[in-house]
Amino acid sequence: MKTETNNKKTSKKDVKLPKKLVYFFGGGKAEGNESMKNLLGGKGANLAEMAGHPDLRLPVPPGFTIITDVCTYYWANNRKYPPQLKEEVEKNLRRVEQLTGKKFGDPKNPLLVSVRSGARKSMPGMMETILNVGLTTKTIPGLIELTKNPRFVWDAYRRLIMMYADVVMEKAEGIEPEDDMGIRKQLDRMLEEKKKEKGVENDTDLTAEDLQELSEKFKEKIKQVLGKEFPDDHNKQLWGAIGAVFASWNGKRAVAYRRIEGIPDDWGTAVNVQTMVFGNMGNDSATGVAFTRNPATGENKFYGEFLLNAQGEDVVAGIRTPNPINDESKNEHSKNLPTLKELMPDVYKQLEDIRRRLEKHYRDMLDIEFTIEKGKLYMLQCRVGKRNGFAAVRMALDMLKEKLITKEEAVMRVSPAQLDELLHPILDPKDEATKKPIAKGLPAGPGGAVGRIVLTANDAVEWTKRGEKVILVREETNPEDIEGMRASEGILTARGGMTSHAALVARGWGKCCIVGASAVLIDLKNKKIKIGEKEFKEGDWITLNGAKGNVYEGQVKMLSAGENQMLKDFLKLCNDIRKLGVRTNADTPEDSAKAREFGAEGIGLFRIEHMFYGKNSEEPLFKLRKMIVSKTKEERVKALNELFPYMKNDIKETLKVMKGLPVTIRLIDPPLHEFVPHSEDKLKALAKDLGISFEELNERAKSLMESNPMMGHRGVRLGITYPEITEMQVRAIFEASAELIKEGIKVYPEIMIPVVSHEKEVEFVLPIIKRVYDEVIKKTGVKKIDYKVGTMIEIPRACLIAGKLAQTMDFFSFGTNDLTQMGFGYSRDDAGVFLKEYIEKKILPADPFQTIDQEGIGEFIKITVERGRAVRKDLKIGICGEQGGDPASVEFCHNAGLNYVSCSPFRVPIAILAAAQAQVKEKSKKK
Ligand code: PEP
Ligand code: MG
Repeated sequence: MKTETNNKKTSKKDVKLPKKLVYFFGGGKAEGNESMKNLLGGKGANLAEMAGHPDLRLPVPPGFTIITDVCTYYWANNRKYPPQLKEEVEKNLRRVEQLTGKKFGDPKNPLLVSVRSGARKSMPGMMETILNVGLTTKTIPGLIELTKNPRFVWDAYRRLIMMYADVVMEKAEGIEPEDDMGIRKQLDRMLEEKKKEKGVENDTDLTAEDLQELSEKFKEKIKQVLGKEFPDDHNKQLWGAIGAVFASWNGKRAVAYRRIEGIPDDWGTAVNVQTMVFGNMGNDSATGVAFTRNPATGENKFYGEFLLNAQGEDVVAGIRTPNPINDESKNEHSKNLPTLKELMPDVYKQLEDIRRRLEKHYRDMLDIEFTIEKGKLYMLQCRVGKRNGFAAVRMALDMLKEKLITKEEAVMRVSPAQLDELLHPILDPKDEATKKPIAKGLPAGPGGAVGRIVLTANDAVEWTKRGEKVILVREETNPEDIEGMRASEGILTARGGMTSHAALVARGWGKCCIVGASAVLIDLKNKKIKIGEKEFKEGDWITLNGAKGNVYEGQVKMLSAGENQMLKDFLKLCNDIRKLGVRTNADTPEDSAKAREFGAEGIGLFRIEHMFYGKNSEEPLFKLRKMIVSKTKEERVKALNELFPYMKNDIKETLKVMKGLPVTIRLIDPPLHEFVPHSEDKLKALAKDLGISFEELNERAKSLMESNPMMGHRGVRLGITYPEITEMQVRAIFEASAELIKEGIKVYPEIMIPVVSHEKEVEFVLPIIKRVYDEVIKKTGVKKIDYKVGTMIEIPRACLIAGKLAQTMDFFSFGTNDLTQMGFGYSRDDAGVFLKEYIEKKILPADPFQTIDQEGIGEFIKITVERGRAVRKDLKIGICGEQGGDPASVEFCHNAGLNYVSCSPFRVPIAILAAAQAQVKEKSKKK
């Protein structure tokens, strides 16, 4: 049964110990403070702050902290302590004894201590705690005499035995018992049996005799199961407990948690040894946890729970329903229980006062732990409290109003992920925690979605018309699925990466989407899917968590998106601070309006070809197809002329919504074969309209196929081989603009040329633009259209010749989807397959299609900015690849000197926040 402990070692020479290994706190003083988290761990640093800072000097039971480096040393030295540690611990114990007037191991007036872990970053529940250390057969009688409370003493003793056996004698020894056979479980069962035998329900109903008898039986059981005696010596207990806390740093749970949270293994945990105070000394004693503000709603209301006559572990274990500390903390379960305010009004008042002082001092919401021993309040922990997105935004705004924090601090208080929570409905985290995912994929679109499985876009539309909520499950999506995607609550694909069609479209709409869930096998013919061994039929309910990439069976509860006013107020704050512009990637008037509402300052990418997808696209798509399969210039020009009014109208609608703001319209980009229809019906209709045979059309379509279309006949190349295509688009842009100008609407079109790699390409296109401009001015009679011409920078070669491109271009926009594709040589559509593994195996730190690879692709960006601006100082530079909405990439763009980022409408608030945070960080670095 005994297995290898996780003896992950750091080499001996790596651990340089400072001189001082132990820091004391208590009696209104402390050797450490809050800023020393790396050394003392979060808990130790905050205990020191609460105990010793002149503004606080809170009632903290005295104790000391063994620094984190000792943990690192311990693991690097075959689980041995540095030689000087013993003496330092003893010296500090003496100081505690002096302050408390009690002595460790003393039979008459014994000091008991708690031994707790505390890493730099909180790792909730991942490491160990042992309470009541120092209770032995020698000290028990003295404590009974002193407290006149034998029940309390025996209760404390049985708790010590349970915790110690579990943590020190089993876990720290690396023993991994079978399920349900852990020593703690076995002892718990004995406790339950005892209660049954006595016919009582609660632990608190057991008498002193019951508990004494149980303690003896516990010790026998431990000997029998673990083959060792429970130590009856206070020093042995103390050092056993200290060692067990260090050991718990490399316990399975802690290691797994560190992997997820990215906490380095060599940080180590500190150990806090602190005088015990007892919440289990009767009904004038209690233990509790509280938040200085409500962590779920953010309201400025003290919120907490406590248990009478209990020790901390009871609150965590959830054995009894805790009482609310005040009326504001009542919930469904506790609404009829008396509050602390009612039961102990004086203590409550003190606690409220501490709440106020702590918030003022830390200037943040805190999570605190307290114990009341015979009517006296003690503080056992405080730390900045975790909160959800809604609460984070509300607290930031409230604290600013209360003048507790500055504007800059308020902006830094909300993480981009937290802000995202306000933008979409999400799964109820409580309900989600009770479910196990049936499949996992890439988290491509935000929020959560619950719906019934449909397998085709048509079904998605039909079912939605009937009032059903659906999830569209596809191998991968293509432009023909758009209507169905729009209609669905969420989208799940078995293939594809973060820049696959489904991911791009879903993110643009802020729709929940998971891509590349390779465990999903789709059987279109029989209208079912298989995940692992399980089959799901069309119509079965599933739930998606688009933020995590998790798929669940059935319906998980949802929480709706937050109050809008709060979001607006918060974004205003960010807007006041940021320097980097934020635009949106939008192709429809609706998306543009949404983005504008969120604060977008223009469109950074309007992909012309998107007008051929989705609502009302049938007719223009048909004309486009005609143009694509045209053989002669004549045929093509005819088709283009038919297409022209649609395009002009489409551009006009969006320019109108964005009046007064710049709109970057990109000339048609994707490989043409993408638009050739697949269905026979459509092909036949097209052949008929063109007056050619079905076979002839098939031939033409085939000739458009390319073996590597991403590097094929796309972007500016189309505009060079078929200048008439460029001409028609440019004319549509200028005529739409001229018409709006005549209506008194201000428009700022920016024409963008895609997939450029050579200055001659833009030099070829520019005269066409100029000529068409002159023609439109002449035809419409408007005086001037304020327009710009720029290029996308999405091919590495373009970066290197940025100086040449800057000679003719007004602006650059980084297409980092393609720049990443071509810089890495990873296909955008296929990289999902290996990128997952690349990240798991730490070849790459993150998916470069989601967050800019700063070292490589970022270098291309920097070179481009430098070379471009050397030629043209006022060159406007932005980014419109998907990474433009990623907070780390936004910060990079800010630092690289870009003028703006452009992202999907639902990412606009995130980019606004990230831009403001980048500015705050830059300013604080300069200070
Ligand atoms: C890009 O390549 O980053 C870009 C925005 O263009 P697209 O995704 O349309 O290729
Ligand atoms: Mg591109």
